[in-house]
Amino acid sequence: MTGNCPHCNGSIGQLNVGIANAVEVNGTTWKAAVFTCPLCRKILGVGFDQTAHSHFIINEMTKLLSK
Ligand SMILES: [Zn+2]
Repeated sequence: MTGNCPHCNGSIGQLNVGIANAVEVNGTTWKAAVFTCPLCRKILGVGFDQTAHSHFIINEMTKLLSK
């Protein structure tokens, strides 16, 4: 399945993904996935890094259960 980039109108069948730190006002940081066009490299979307978030929850639960 392909689509067109809204920035360069190029036909894209896959996206590039990178990881960035998303920082809350209180200083808490989260890993975020940044999806970019492989042709013009402009950002197409951003979302939480689900894998990093799952690891965070597992680590926090392990800490609580170890007390
Ligand atoms: Zn593009």
